[in-house]
Amino acid sequence: MTERLTGRVALISGAASGMGASHARAFIAEGACVMIGDIADTAGQQLAAELGDRAAYIHLDVTSSRDWDAAVAETIRCFGKLDVLVNNAGILDGGPIGEYTEKQWQNVLSINLTGPFLGLTAARDALVAAAPAAVVNISSAAGIQGVPGVHAYTASKFGVRGLTKSAALELAPHGVRVNSVHPGGILTPMLGASSDATLDRGANPLARLGLPEEVTPLVVFLASTESSYCNGAEYVVDGGMTAGRA
Ligand code: NAP
Repeated sequence: MTERLTGRVALISGAASGMGASHARAFIAEGACVMIGDIADTAGQQLAAELGDRAAYIHLDVTSSRDWDAAVAETIRCFGKLDVLVNNAGILDGGPIGEYTEKQWQNVLSINLTGPFLGLTAARDALVAAAPAAVVNISSAAGIQGVPGVHAYTASKFGVRGLTKSAALELAPHGVRVNSVHPGGILTPMLGASSDATLDRGANPLARLGLPEEVTPLVVFLASTESSYCNGAEYVVDGGMTAGRA
């Protein structure tokens, strides 16, 4: 059986941990080369070493356009091109309106929304040069419906969905597809290592949190040429949470 990402070169932000690490592992297994970008340097370096010669790590703070330029350049230096960008890095933070500060708001927006914009900006020419290329923006179920108490996070993830659609329209003539992925609650360090995976059916029809490995196949699909007619769309992977009221 052929590997689904043979010959592809991906830059994945926030890939040292959680879902990003799961995506990196699967991309390597499917034949891709992967540049792991993260601020968690030790974990990122360890993962790159574990994944072998087709993986490398670079420090990438997604709020820094300089870091993004360096990450794109290093990806091309190591692996010859860049044809898949996965904007995965993000933080979860919240608090009630009236208490949540402008500084907290700006921090979430700068990582979760400005980060993907800076990634697209830095990678645009490389992606066009390597077309057919794909961008996968990791939004959230909170980019589909509102969530009380996490206003900045929800706004950032709706923003990622909008950025995805405008970028998809602009870059399609250049052979670059852009799609967004919307996970529900997934068991990663973001939700806390001790999270209980069970949920009541009112909260989720499948009555549980998801695993990173249940999101990754969708990201692999959107990064591969199997999804050649998928563009500017949102792909929900949430156990049915946003389907309606159970
Ligand atoms: P995670 O386990 O916390 O991993 C996120 C990674 O991004 C961490 O390695 C983190 O480093 C890194 N990071 C944080 N700030 C960064 C920055 N400024 N620049 C670069 N990297 C940075 O989270 P996850 O659950 O896998 O989340 C991955 C994506 O899925 C995020 O966009 C998240 O919003 C989205 N998502 C998650 C869930 C969920 O339930 N887990 C649901 C829907 C969507 P540190 O550990 O050092 O902070």
